[in-house]
Amino acid sequence: MTARILDGNALSARLRESLRQRAAELSARGCKPGLAVILVGENPASQVYVRNKIKACEAVGLHSEKYAFPADVPPSEVLARIAALNADPAIHGILVQLPLPQQFDESAVLAAVAAEKDVDGFHAENVGLLAQGRPRFVSCTPLGVMKMLESEGVELAGREAVVVGRSNIVGKPMALLLVAASATVTVCHSRTRDLAAHVRRADVLVAAVGRPRMISGDMVKPGAVVIDVGINRLREGPDAGKLCGDVDFASVKEFASLITPVPGGVGPMTITMLLANTIDGAARAVAHATH
Ligand code: NDP
Repeated sequence: MTARILDGNALSARLRESLRQRAAELSARGCKPGLAVILVGENPASQVYVRNKIKACEAVGLHSEKYAFPADVPPSEVLARIAALNADPAIHGILVQLPLPQQFDESAVLAAVAAEKDVDGFHAENVGLLAQGRPRFVSCTPLGVMKMLESEGVELAGREAVVVGRSNIVGKPMALLLVAASATVTVCHSRTRDLAAHVRRADVLVAAVGRPRMISGDMVKPGAVVIDVGINRLREGPDAGKLCGDVDFASVKEFASLITPVPGGVGPMTITMLLANTIDGAARAVAHATH
């Protein structure tokens, strides 16, 4: 079997078209969705991510604001900016680009973002709502994975789903979403014994580890749906410098029925979900104002 490829760029383009319409409708009602992005320091990868997010906002007609601070900024200054944005009615989403420099207590900064504007879905209140099965803002990457599965009509109820990775940003919310979709979910991590045995049971496999090509074809059940969240830059070998996922695409595609590539799979969906969350935030603000 050779897997069909689940193209995240194509799906993103379709979704962004409908997001553009929703943004235009909200703007016509006097509520242009607005995203504020906070960037601290000169991390080159963070600078690229922030630039891409701002560009994506502009392309679908969202208002965006960027606040860049030097690496040695006192945390109180960033917290004051967050407080101002929390109170700003033109802003419906606030995103703090991670990682933050050492002098910051990252969780305190994330907690300072108003839960109603936490478009990354990292605030404890939003994580709690997701755990209770009544999601508000959901972390963009796992939300994007669910949209990919939905777009292909992948059946989840009663199926075995295995998530490799248990980070707060990807693995844990991914597992909660799959549980909410009635899959039987196993979460693996660095202390898991016999990872291959767990992975081999998966009808739906989500790899979010950060280890290049660690999932190989012989670990995958024939016909499985394989979602590769990993983004790794290869350091050696013939592909040095190129990006690859946590899944060994060449061998796994011979066993899977559906597979996401890296790049061009989950990555573009993450930004699309950020746009969707910002628009949802604006829509909720409008609904709140009219009640
Ligand atoms: P983290 O480093 O926070 O988490 C990695 C997880 O993998 C941890 O739970 C860790 O276990 C687990 N792990 C590490 N080694 C092994 C192993 N040998 N076997 C099984 N599990 C292992 O990473 P993130 O969740 O933030 O990101 C994961 C990957 O996804 C990265 O490549 C990142 O770049 C990518 N990513 C991609 C995004 C996208 O838009 N496509 C967005 C976000 C991330 P333990 O908890 O025990 O340490």
